[in-house]
Amino acid sequence: MIPINDLSRGFRLYQKEYEDKAVEVLRSGWYVLGNEVKGFEAEFAAALGGDCFCAGVDNGLDAILVGLMAAGIQPGDEIIVQANGYIATMLGIMQCGAVPVFVEPDEYYQLDADRIEAAVTERTRAVLVTHLYGLATRMDPILEICRKRGLMLFEDCAQSHFAPWNGLNTGLFGDAAFFSFYPTKNLGGFGDGGGVISRNPEIIERVKVIRNYGSDYRYHNIVIGYNDRLDELQAGLLRVKLRHMPELLRNRDHIAQRYLAEIRNPLVELPRVPEGCVHTWYQFVVRVGDQAGFREFLKERGVGTDIAWKTPPYLQPCMTEKFGYRRGDFPVTEGICDTVVSLPMMDWMSEEEITKVIQEVNSYAGV
Ligand SMILES: *Cc1c(COP(=O)(O)O)cnc(C)c1O
Repeated sequence: MIPINDLSRGFRLYQKEYEDKAVEVLRSGWYVLGNEVKGFEAEFAAALGGDCFCAGVDNGLDAILVGLMAAGIQPGDEIIVQANGYIATMLGIMQCGAVPVFVEPDEYYQLDADRIEAAVTERTRAVLVTHLYGLATRMDPILEICRKRGLMLFEDCAQSHFAPWNGLNTGLFGDAAFFSFYPTKNLGGFGDGGGVISRNPEIIERVKVIRNYGSDYRYHNIVIGYNDRLDELQAGLLRVKLRHMPELLRNRDHIAQRYLAEIRNPLVELPRVPEGCVHTWYQFVVRVGDQAGFREFLKERGVGTDIAWKTPPYLQPCMTEKFGYRRGDFPVTEGICDTVVSLPMMDWMSEEEITKVIQEVNSYAGV
């Protein structure tokens, strides 16, 4: 079976370095918010292109929650998001009392700039884009709308580490950006982790206060904060992986380029990359009319697949109860959820495995 992903392969690529770092941290006697976290924050901000600051937190969801709080989002504020976004983004928005307002995505699965203005009300405070599947949203029209309307701009970069738009990495466009270092993410650790990035040092300072009991210095608490700290082991291991990101992204691109060049099946629609973007292939997502049948066909032939994701956030029970959304509210999104299939994509695949995926996909002939 070729799995959709196998995290142990990424570990084995740099096993010695990870093991050495783990032992070093274990022996150091310092385990939460220390020099590894500081080092990772500085190195990640620099790797994104500098001119920004980073605060490490415990996971991507809390990066969203704490980042929005630190940027001044208030209960009742409306935040425009894409209807095919991830549930964690909506949870972060709702946990700080704000309201997600949904807009359909474009043909690249990203927030459709042309539909934003119709969703703006007097309560709208911000636009939050999620750069889905490892591809940047086309930012120019969105930046223009935010400027014109005086809206804040946030980026969920949990799937878009080092995915650029017109040469600038995602995470550097808005007021704050939220990263996850969950193990499956392109820059994923060996447990939970997250980070907030901003060009505004005050926002990052506030995140650092909120993540640590609302404390600005020891035993002095200025806001009702949380415990959202990043631990030293994760930060240390992430520093190791960060050094190898160019190579890891090249590995993924090699797999994707073979899929793009060799998958030829009129029933399978391949992903497209708009001008100005370099895809980082967090997921390799194709579209197939018979989603379930295609997955079953590949499963029988030893190829694992996934759907990211079958149910859009506004149809999750936790949201339908509160907001009363129904199937049919966002037909573009539902069309996506009903047809997307992710093919195997991971930090390392053999040429034979890539060939097998391609052959099996090409041999699919529908029912
Ligand atoms: C993974 C993910 C998150 C949440 O990150 P966690 O670290 O799992 O909390 C948020 N948004 C998007 C788009 C994600 O893919």
